Amino acid sequence: MPSPYTIYVMQSAHTDIGYTHAQEQIGLMYLEHYDRVLDLCRHTANAPEPQRFKWTCETSWQARQYLAARPEREEDFLRYARAGQIELTASYLHFTDLIDADAYRRSLRWVVDYCRRHDLPLRCALHGDINGWPCAVADILADLDIPYFCSQIHVDSATDPLGRRGSVHYQWTREMGRMLRPDAPIRVPQAFWWYGPAGGRVLHWLNEHYLLGNVLGVSSPQPFGADKTRYFTETDHLSADDLYDRARQEVPRYVERLRAEGYPYDALLLSTGGFYVDNAPPDGRWLDVIARWNAEHEDIVLRTATLGEWFDALVSHDTGAWPRYHVAWPDHWAHGLGAATARVAQARRTQRRRADALALVAAANEPAATAALEMALEQERLALEHTFDAWCTTARPAAAINAFQQAAKELTFHRAELYLDEAIGTALRVMIPLGVAPAPLLRIHGTEMDEARVVHFDMGDLRLDPRSQVLVAADGALYPFQYDAAELSLVVAVLPTRAAALSSFGVVAQPMATPPDMCAAHRGSHMATPAAASVELRTEGWRLRVDPATGGLTSLREGSTGREWVDARHAQAFGQLVHEGVVHPLGRQAVGNVARFIALDVASDELRAGFAQGPVVVHTSPAVEGEPHVICGPIFDVIEMVAAEPRIRRLQIAWRLYHALPLVELVLNWDKVWSDRPEAAYVAFPFATEERGRLAPSACPRCDWSSRSWAA
Ligand SMILES: [Zn+2]
Repeated sequence: MPSPYTIYVMQSAHTDIGYTHAQEQIGLMYLEHYDRVLDLCRHTANAPEPQRFKWTCETSWQARQYLAARPEREEDFLRYARAGQIELTASYLHFTDLIDADAYRRSLRWVVDYCRRHDLPLRCALHGDINGWPCAVADILADLDIPYFCSQIHVDSATDPLGRRGSVHYQWTREMGRMLRPDAPIRVPQAFWWYGPAGGRVLHWLNEHYLLGNVLGVSSPQPFGADKTRYFTETDHLSADDLYDRARQEVPRYVERLRAEGYPYDALLLSTGGFYVDNAPPDGRWLDVIARWNAEHEDIVLRTATLGEWFDALVSHDTGAWPRYHVAWPDHWAHGLGAATARVAQARRTQRRRADALALVAAANEPAATAALEMALEQERLALEHTFDAWCTTARPAAAINAFQQAAKELTFHRAELYLDEAIGTALRVMIPLGVAPAPLLRIHGTEMDEARVVHFDMGDLRLDPRSQVLVAADGALYPFQYDAAELSLVVAVLPTRAAALSSFGVVAQPMATPPDMCAAHRGSHMATPAAASVELRTEGWRLRVDPATGGLTSLREGSTGREWVDARHAQAFGQLVHEGVVHPLGRQAVGNVARFIALDVASDELRAGFAQGPVVVHTSPAVEGEPHVICGPIFDVIEMVAAEPRIRRLQIAWRLYHALPLVELVLNWDKVWSDRPEAAYVAFPFATEERGRLAPSACPRCDWSSRSWAA
């Protein structure tokens, strides 16, 4: 007799810091959630295992939050964790893929330390909803001896990354049936070995949606689309028998559909929330559903499970045939990032400064600096978390909660930067003796790999003037500096960091040569030749040529190799801003799931008929107005231009070429027009390649391929 089909039902709460409720309410809600988790564990500790309450901490943030606030309940928590009723997973929060590998690794520290300290297993990482993460995650998990990774990505505005073209969530065929062709394929969960760039591997289970168990009636299916007051789940009056009636219909139907689509196993992981909503409280009705189910069914059996128990079952199905994928896994719909470009720039500033801040604070060994740094790192994690706005942003644009959540989210970016400043300032004050002459201005940390570094700093209360002053190092060597953004009192210098030690710099008066002389001295040759329709800058490292019509580069030639990096045949100029605005009458829907269903050929005839023909988006790029302006400076020479276009309004473009480093910078300052419709903006970088369209990472040793630098 064949063994019954076993459904491992996992209950967890999808962590959104925001979305359903204001951010600080989310923190309070999880305290109540975990009080209830412990109560449910206690009440069912001796129940038959299939109907014993089990809870998977979807993020370790949930547990950390709870244990910090309720130390008196830690013994209970540990008891049920050791008994296998609660499982901690590694993932701290669900991030956008703006997070870099270093920050991701740091985010795991708390749970790794906690599990080691309390001798708890830590075998799984779990990401739901988000659909991308740094490709280094496989390496990081392998390094930490965490063998299993489960993703329950949301295919909103896209499709299953490894499934049949156009495949959608199973529940969409139930809930959005009128929009889809009857034969639209569904996601088929699958296992594969996922390899990171350093060769680390994890067993990846690409599961279905994290609330599928609610849709199937194993947990409550009552939707909460319309109202989410603080105690909203109290309006769910469905009984376990109501749920069972639904499950009896839906579970066999789903199992049958999966079989028909080729799902090969006789076991299944079914993820549920206690309620059909994100940030759902735990709930006990599934235990009654499971008990009754198993009493009345033999072909399919249900059991509660943690994520690790599912993986234990899964590895028993390993026949050596699972595919191996060495792939990056970039996010495809971090909507919030697209609406927060200034905050994205701020997050990148914070990321760039993190290593220096960590080194400074470690060297200072000052508790106040350490505390400020910890605060900065936690605020950075909250900024990089995937939740940007309230559930009703589009349903009720005028609702106050939208503005609240947006403001609270933006503050996390500001706080991350503020506390990083605080940590650095506190560390510097400890380390630099005051009252010596010349007064030290800044200290920087370097590595032997990195002999000169661009250092951006704020003049603060000092009255610095790059035309009459220079920085002086401890050995008396002088280093000029230059305005980075004069209106913000920001300056930039290129400073030696040859020794793996800290260096300090003061400031002394040193009238600089007049700019025209410096230009000649530093640059070799410079010519503005309107007749030839190009402006050129040149150093030993690079020669760049700007097209005064587009503001982009027509040539970027590397000094050491003679290599040309620009594909001048491309439709967009190198470094050109491209604005993409929706013009279709359906607006937002024309670029969301409606458009995706049509593009992937799974749309119903009805949906297709309602989608007006005509352009969906228009692309525009601004045209440069007036002549390019060349400014020569001690740190970099720059070609500045102003461009305009009605949709874009005004854009300042600056190409900087540094003297002491082989560094080219493009600075775009854009005062953007408000748009009520979806829009996107890109900077085009059409690289010249031997094989058109492909750029081998090895061809660009200075490029940071671990992040999405080119998408910024
Ligand atoms: Zn989410």
